[in-house]
Amino acid sequence: MTRRRSSYRSLASLQRDNRVCRACAEAGFPLESLPVLEGRPGQRAMIVGQAPGIVEGIERRPWRGRAGATLRRWLELDEAAFYAAFYCVSITRCYPGRHPSGRGDRPATPGEIALCRFWLDWDLQLVQPRLVLVVGGLAARRLLGLTRLTECIGARYRLGDAVAVPLPHPSGASGWLNEPANRERLASALALVREELAAP
Ligand code: SF4
Repeated sequence: MTRRRSSYRSLASLQRDNRVCRACAEAGFPLESLPVLEGRPGQRAMIVGQAPGIVEGIERRPWRGRAGATLRRWLELDEAAFYAAFYCVSITRCYPGRHPSGRGDRPATPGEIALCRFWLDWDLQLVQPRLVLVVGGLAARRLLGLTRLTECIGARYRLGDAVAVPLPHPSGASGWLNEPANRERLASALALVREELAAP
């Protein structure tokens, strides 16, 4: 049963409630996993992805599949360093299932995104991140209001008191990285991330 308090004072209680959230299922949306998120108090860098995939849904841990491996390769971090550095959440947190066409995963609907925004807003408020990696076009649109991925990769944005750096989705499904100019944009974005992570 979904429980949402009017206020949260600790990440432990926020995560406890988030991990059993069924708000979308209760609203009639088909979901194929329980919520997936991972993070600890004290982490000041956050990754906001789009939604977990099938592997993440099974393991109930973010970034476990092939896209996660690519993201760690981009960031030049092994698994231990990656999960130690980043508080990992997403725009929606339950695996939405396969797209009816059979090609890829079903994109979350605006209704599901609106229901899940509650958790993201509380994460941002309690974590108070210094750096937020915004991964994928949908996340960039929902979190930063950016509509054109190509123009925003390689730039920094403000998200409250945090620096936000958009990244393309590492699944590679879009073919965006086939363009050499886009690979240069990604290299610029990753240089920004390294610079922000190294900042005192
Ligand atoms: S996607 Fe978000 S709001 Fe919907 S059931 Fe999962 S955790 Fe809850």
